[in-house]
Amino acid sequence: MPWLKFMAATRSRSGFNMNEIANYIAVDTIEEAAETLAAGPVTVLAGGTDLMLQTEAGTRSYAATLMNIRRVAELRGVGLEDGSLTIGALTTVSDLLADPIIGAHCPILAETADQFASPQIRNMASIGGNICNASPAGDLLVPLIALGAEVALVSKADGALHSRRMPVEEFVIGPGASKLGDTEILTFVHIPSQDGAAGAFRKFGPRPALEIAIAAVAVTGRIEDGKFAHMRVAFGAVAPTPVRGRAVEAALEDKPATDETINAALAATDADISPIDDVRASAWYRRHLIRTLTQEILADVFRA
Ligand SMILES: Cc1cc2nc3c(=O)[nH]c(=O)nc-3n(C[C@H](O)[C@H](O)[C@H](O)COP(=O)(O)OP(=O)(O)OC[C@H]3O[C@@H](n4cnc5c(N)ncnc54)[C@H](O)[C@@H]3O)c2cc1C
Repeated sequence: MPWLKFMAATRSRSGFNMNEIANYIAVDTIEEAAETLAAGPVTVLAGGTDLMLQTEAGTRSYAATLMNIRRVAELRGVGLEDGSLTIGALTTVSDLLADPIIGAHCPILAETADQFASPQIRNMASIGGNICNASPAGDLLVPLIALGAEVALVSKADGALHSRRMPVEEFVIGPGASKLGDTEILTFVHIPSQDGAAGAFRKFGPRPALEIAIAAVAVTGRIEDGKFAHMRVAFGAVAPTPVRGRAVEAALEDKPATDETINAALAATDADISPIDDVRASAWYRRHLIRTLTQEILADVFRA
């Protein structure tokens, strides 16, 4: 790649240094990607919207091999089987916004995509990159946890491909940390059939666009015989990882869809979250936002 050699010999004014990269590989298949990872160490490049900023800022460095996976066609797109969705890791945020299967079977993901960054970033940002970046404020992680989504992780050893699956809720283990192994690639996101469940995502940031959430909430579930049923709740930017709202779920499940139940659920939010004070918001304000956004969803979507 001539451009890479040029950049490798160069240090930009911002300090962006590609001298660390000895090999650049653009793979075409999952198997090629897994083989390259097995020969490691490798840095995986998808859309680059997190990776490029982090390496430029010096908060992480490249491994000797930079592997671009964007040409792996089998990793992009949305499939539907018996109501369950399979989303390729390279599916972009713009794809989620426009995809008719997502619109019909999982509109909460399109709603989240609509609140994500700007059109330019959405065109590059992938769902796999958002999950692997493991940010406490990663927008897509919040509805994916509420939806009960799982990730598939693939590696190659002893001449064979190996795949394992785990819930998104367990995959992210700390700010920027996940259970992704050094030789694994995230291939697909699996979302179980929602069977007509309603759902909504709300996030709050100081600006209406291009803003990292200072609090985010996703809720899925339905009303059956006047009661909340199959409720799943997740919160973003209020703990070291996006978290499941188990106390809120318990306060709602099988209870009458009344203001009294909603108030009990809002009181339970404190038990699910552990926000911190930082430059973007105080812990008190984040707690207040979580209650407000949860109230908004429960009142607007489930009691309207
Ligand atoms: C201006 C701007 C605005 C933004 N706004 C938002 C926002 O509103 N909400 C939000 O959540 N995020 C936002 N982001 C962050 C970013 O766009 C997302 O996290 C995006 O989804 C990352 O995807 P990517 O394809 O660009 O990942 P990359 O940057 O290519 O990769 C991110 C990380 O994941 C790894 N990786 C990527 N794909 C795989 C894979 N398939 N298998 C294994 N490892 C993989 C990479 O090695 C890297 O560590 C914003 C970023 C910018 C620059």
